[in-house]
Amino acid sequence: MAYEMAVDRLTYQAQLQNSTTYTACELRGVILIACSILLGLVQATFITNDTSTLKSSYEFIIVGGGTRRSGCRESPVCQSYCLGVERGSDQMNNDLLNDPFTTFGTPSACRFNMDAPPQLGSNGTRLLQLTHGSCLGGGSSINAMMGSRPTFAGMQAVEALGNPGWGWNDFLPFMQKSETFHPPNAEQRADGADYFAAVHGFDGPVGVSFATPFVAPAMQAAGVNTSEIIYGLSLSPDLGNGFSGGHVAHYYEHIHFNETLQADRRSSSAWSYLYPQSQQRAGLTVLTDHLVDVVLTKAGSHGNITATGIRVQPSAGGQSLSFNVTREVVVSAGALYSPSILQRSGIGNATFLKSLGITPVLDLPGVGSNFQDQILLSNVSYPLSPSANTTNVTAGDKTLLGVVVAHATATNAFGPNGTDIIQAGLLNSSADFTLSVGGIVNEEAFSTIAAITANAYRIDHPIIELFYTPGSEVLEVWSQSILPLSRGTVRINTTDPTADPIVNTHFLTVDADMQIAIRMARGVAQAALTPPFSDLLTPDALAQSNVPGPDATDDQVRDWVLATYTPGVHFISSNSMMPKALGGVVSPELLVYGTTNIRVADASIVPLSVFPHPTLGLYGVAEKAAHMILQTAANT
Ligand SMILES: Cc1cc2nc3c(=O)[nH]c(=O)nc-3n(C[C@H](O)[C@H](O)[C@H](O)COP(=O)(O)OP(=O)(O)OC[C@H]3O[C@@H](n4cnc5c(N)ncnc54)[C@H](O)[C@@H]3O)c2cc1C
Repeated sequence: MAYEMAVDRLTYQAQLQNSTTYTACELRGVILIACSILLGLVQATFITNDTSTLKSSYEFIIVGGGTRRSGCRESPVCQSYCLGVERGSDQMNNDLLNDPFTTFGTPSACRFNMDAPPQLGSNGTRLLQLTHGSCLGGGSSINAMMGSRPTFAGMQAVEALGNPGWGWNDFLPFMQKSETFHPPNAEQRADGADYFAAVHGFDGPVGVSFATPFVAPAMQAAGVNTSEIIYGLSLSPDLGNGFSGGHVAHYYEHIHFNETLQADRRSSSAWSYLYPQSQQRAGLTVLTDHLVDVVLTKAGSHGNITATGIRVQPSAGGQSLSFNVTREVVVSAGALYSPSILQRSGIGNATFLKSLGITPVLDLPGVGSNFQDQILLSNVSYPLSPSANTTNVTAGDKTLLGVVVAHATATNAFGPNGTDIIQAGLLNSSADFTLSVGGIVNEEAFSTIAAITANAYRIDHPIIELFYTPGSEVLEVWSQSILPLSRGTVRINTTDPTADPIVNTHFLTVDADMQIAIRMARGVAQAALTPPFSDLLTPDALAQSNVPGPDATDDQVRDWVLATYTPGVHFISSNSMMPKALGGVVSPELLVYGTTNIRVADASIVPLSVFPHPTLGLYGVAEKAAHMILQTAANT
């Protein structure tokens, strides 16, 4: 399989080199024209937190107003009969969220933390918090806006897992469709920004651009050069072209740059798909401040079940009420909450559901298993040298996270035998622990996923991400794992819909992940010692930081990793798109196995952590889901 994937990759590369500049209008024009004809005069989308004016029945109901909320926007039927329900509030005019330069991590009305059960730590266990967004826009309203895409090898791996139609060539057009890419201007180009026009979209709802101007050009240049030296990488014009392995690049963000105002604004999904004038849809109603308790079902044809509606309640507490659905329910509450809704609805592991007093309507053991997150070494900041204290290094008051990103493959990170080392590590991993905690549903799932992951690394899938962030007193160098094998679970422990589920990440419980984490830490240390980046730091920067130096043993580095790692907050895969026999929950059409009309469309369906930062890929998932929903609607 590795050979075929490599050949595919070369064919694609040749096509890319021969392609001309992409004109996105050609792709979207037909759809937009068709919509205008069908819609007639477009009226405003109705956003409310008051249920008294709502209808009792809708054709489509979308649960969750997060990153993947575009499902109905182009559906002609939805223009009259679509209801979206979001647990959080409407924060349209909240400048803390809209200003992309608000310091990352600033508390806001959209930012929430969930306590995870104790995770692996240096003294046994550690308590970690899982941060997530809850308002219109979900995580896209609070995230760091780092704009990355899955790689070619990554999407081929998703397809190889049993998902025809999800390989890179099939998936790319949907990512393009979602995007308005703002090519770098002359000043940004002079500072090193570049792009491949052939892989971008230019008239979609989501703005993607480099910060204007560059936030810290001198630091960015130093980060690029140092990464080249540490990992033997080369500068890529664009990490979004599918060949991310073994490159470093200036990063673009989910930022909409307004040419008229000459101002940057966060491109959340709410500001992309909901608020703009061009996105207004008569009859599309969005109910905020209400949470979905259950999807109501009845027995359907051929032993399947059919959704008949949803039951909701005010998020602050109060009377429940139900809405009927005549076509589909699309569950999009994110990887932390979508499995909870299915479980409360009686869809999940039957034995587990019965233990909570829930009557199972569908025995689907994969619901809430296969959960993944990437780990982050985020407690790394190096003191700035006084001589480097210029805004070209510190960014002044315009800080953005990860303005330079390096992606290292197994060979870059571990040396010439890197892929063999990692392949052996993955293939020899024992399934016992993961199986015992329910992270996978059977041993075959574990070995299949391990083999597919190893193959992706063998092609050129990045194994480690290293990224640089400017600051007024320190420069931060963080590292993130990309394709972990450790698997966790999302399980409710009560039928109370206001209670958070128990989300057990089981970070670093597979040794191959730990070996990669040790390499991540080594790379972070090297950055502090390798010019030109180290020239921007005080001479004792590494010692000041407590990051283990080059003389530390692997055991010492391991301890430091266990004491300091944090969640990557890129939660995925708790309703995996993969064969049911491997613990899959949804088919490649995103339909929940055993149902006629319940789809899941959010990060919970992404079966492998091939999205280094998920959001741009998730917009592709959203566009593909919308396309499939439209197709079904057209045929019924
Ligand atoms: C702090 C942080 C930083 C991040 N940085 C980046 C980054 O730089 N780049 C990047 O690409 N990605 C980043 N991410 C990840 C990215 O934001 C998420 O992967 C993405 O938002 C997931 O989208 P989703 O649609 O699956 O879920 P979400 O965006 O989480 O949306 C789910 C929505 O469903 C709602 N909901 C939940 N339960 C219910 C219910 N019962 N009824 C109704 N509604 C419900 C929630 O309130 C939420 O609004 C970051 C995430 C966080 C938290």
